[in-house]
Amino acid sequence: SDARFVGKTIVITGAGGNFGRAGCLFFTKRGASVVAWDNNESALMETINEVRSQDEANYIRIEGYTCDVTSEDSVRSTLESVLSDFSRIDMLWNNAGYQGEIKPTLEYDIEDFSRVMNINVTGAFIVLQSVAKIMAGQSRGEQDSSHPFSIVNTASVAGLRGTPAMVAYSSSKAAILAMTVAVAKKDLAPHGIRVNSISPALIGPGYMWTRQNELHASSGSPYFSSDPEQVAEAKIGGVPMKRLGTIEEVLKSVAYLLSSDSSYTTGTNLVVDGG
Ligand code: NAD
Repeated sequence: SDARFVGKTIVITGAGGNFGRAGCLFFTKRGASVVAWDNNESALMETINEVRSQDEANYIRIEGYTCDVTSEDSVRSTLESVLSDFSRIDMLWNNAGYQGEIKPTLEYDIEDFSRVMNINVTGAFIVLQSVAKIMAGQSRGEQDSSHPFSIVNTASVAGLRGTPAMVAYSSSKAAILAMTVAVAKKDLAPHGIRVNSISPALIGPGYMWTRQNELHASSGSPYFSSDPEQVAEAKIGGVPMKRLGTIEEVLKSVAYLLSSDSSYTTGTNLVVDGG
């Protein structure tokens, strides 16, 4: 276990996905109680089963909640259940997301653009606001620091420098960077809540990395080769450290921002991109 997380309750959204599932394993292993949200019920259940089957000798607590982050009603009723099951929330990893289609700007579908913005921006804000309301009403206790509550939003380097053929995704992640600063510095600091974001870049290997390269190769974008392997090589060639990052490296950075290790840091963006 890890003293930074023992006895803490962490909400993780997108818990049925790649990062979210790994995060549920990572934080339960470190002694946190994890509140796992996803709108994909079967993926969520796989996460819950995987975590519970890890280490039966250790007492770990995880509960799954099927929740659509784009629906205020769904988030509100989910939070009612969460509070009756856990009584308080210390940390939030606001991580659910949708990458949208991979298409050059001139062909990008407007409906898909709006779907991406709705999930990645409006959805992230609904969750952030709803959880922050709960945090603001909780006692701060004597623990850790004057700002014991912490939120980490998953942004992306796409929001900083743009990713070809992913205009909606890039726009949505830029919005997350601005949202993080706006809520952290001006609005939530007086309530004992820190808010930061994380911006991963190329993470793999695995299904997501391979799939992404296939989609970029077939996108019709002149920026990419039509051969997925050449796409992968070109991407890695552009990284100063000349390799992909691991999910573990993302999680360690999320853990730093969620925990009291970063107790004097709010409104910042931590880039995890190999340089
Ligand atoms: P993923 O697709 O594996 O997981 C995303 C999860 O979010 C899925 O389980 C999905 O069901 C869930 N979700 C989507 N819409 C939802 C909704 N309306 N309500 C509730 N849940 C919903 O993707 P991932 O790779 O795990 O990415 C997680 C986050 O990290 C995303 O915000 C993504 O943009 C970001 N990110 C990923 C990478 C990467 O390399 N994988 C890099 C940078 C940023």
